[in-house]
Amino acid sequence: MTYEITKEDFLFIVNKPRCRGTEIRNGNEKEGHENCGNCKGNYFVGGECNYGGRHTMEEELKQVNKNFEQFNGLVKKKGKISEAKSESKFQKRRDKLINEFQELKKKCDGEGKEFFQGSCIGLDGSQKGFTKKIKETFFLLAEGLKNYIRIVQNTTWEKIRIFRENLEKLEALSNKYTGLVKEYDNEKDPVRKAHLFALMAEKQKEIAGFRLELNKDPLFELFSKEKDEELNNIVKNIFHGDGQFFK
Ligand SMILES: [Zn+2]
Repeated sequence: MTYEITKEDFLFIVNKPRCRGTEIRNGNEKEGHENCGNCKGNYFVGGECNYGGRHTMEEELKQVNKNFEQFNGLVKKKGKISEAKSESKFQKRRDKLINEFQELKKKCDGEGKEFFQGSCIGLDGSQKGFTKKIKETFFLLAEGLKNYIRIVQNTTWEKIRIFRENLEKLEALSNKYTGLVKEYDNEKDPVRKAHLFALMAEKQKEIAGFRLELNKDPLFELFSKEKDEELNNIVKNIFHGDGQFFK
């Protein structure tokens, strides 16, 4: 799932720098900014920036979206690790994923510069650096990715095997529970029904206990639905500050 960064996303993360001029919708670089030096110009209202490059947000948005493309497909690649049929395949896929995460982390260490290279979007108005908000966001993301990399690095073929077994066990327990519920629904005899109800409660308790146990396994966290969702939405979250990476 590819998330396209929108103009609204941009405006959300950027503290629009003030200038002495007037913003003119779709205006060219100097229009409304005749008395300014370097400034954002009409960049945020569909026109050109006044930093000398006559950049427009629409054009830069295309490039920035390209820069974020590397975040796509991380979930799929992560899934492939747990699906690997042999140890050598597993190792290859794991190393590839680690590399990719590390590359992204490196980019984030640069305070987002690499993602916004050459664009006016994140500039704080003096053209010297990015806004505090962008820097903070990428600092948090880099930290989040660091933790992620550590978990993936600690993943071994043996751990994956145990993880898979546990998943199967969990599924078997859930299936048993579902079976009991069906039986309960169809049962007419009150005594039998009460007995089935007790069995259901027991099974539920067993499942909850097993889940608690599984939650201690970092792999379970790594492959959880929540983590997948978080990675899937990472680009969107960068701009909106949602998700654990940014808390
Ligand atoms: Zn201006």
